[in-house]
Amino acid sequence: VPVKAAEKELVVACDTAFVPFEFKQGDKYVGFDIDLWNEIAKDIGVKYKLQPMDFNGIVPGLQTRNIDVALAGITIREDRKKVIDFSDPYYESGLLAMVSANNKTINTVKDLDGKIIAAKTGTATADYLKANVKSKELRLFPNIDNAYLELRTGRVDAAVHDTPNVLYYVNTAGKGAVRVVGQSVKGGDFYGIGFPKGSPLVPKVNAALKKIKADGRYDAIYKKWFGTAP
Ligand code: GLN
Repeated sequence: VPVKAAEKELVVACDTAFVPFEFKQGDKYVGFDIDLWNEIAKDIGVKYKLQPMDFNGIVPGLQTRNIDVALAGITIREDRKKVIDFSDPYYESGLLAMVSANNKTINTVKDLDGKIIAAKTGTATADYLKANVKSKELRLFPNIDNAYLELRTGRVDAAVHDTPNVLYYVNTAGKGAVRVVGQSVKGGDFYGIGFPKGSPLVPKVNAALKKIKADGRYDAIYKKWFGTAP
């Protein structure tokens, strides 16, 4: 029996480790993006399977159409918009640095000059650091957990990543061991869901997003993962 188009399972990529948007808990992936997508998929009536992958493989995976949808707190940017499509924005972000709790010398982003910094390959943060910080060395890791490990073991002076991810880490796994540096650097950063160029899913997903925001489901998911109302 031929599989009907409507029954086809979408391949939905998610970042392997980006708390609290998508991360592995036991043997399954959970998080804000996963819950939000689950509601969208229900509303538009699609089946899907999750395919966790490193962030820097996601845009290329959409470009080659090996994946149909990507959930990774992907910052909507003009350069990316040239090669992939985005949903409407669903979360406002920024970036934030953290250092060891006993570090006394790094208190502003300016203090990162001359330091060894860890960040994640292919991200908006990596680009920001290259353009704005005169680091002694910028070490990039495909998985942010490894960057945080470098910080915890004292091999780098600071780690920088998306604000919600850093805050979540500081309040959970890194509690007491690390602290944030100054304030979140905001530059009109919004997350969107990623699609191959021209994907017919985009308008359907945007309509579902609108509904999910209006009927309280977005707020409930937000509260579940961030503990507060948006
Ligand atoms: N928001 C960041 C970017 O798009 C990456 C977030 C992540 O690590 N998944 O560059």
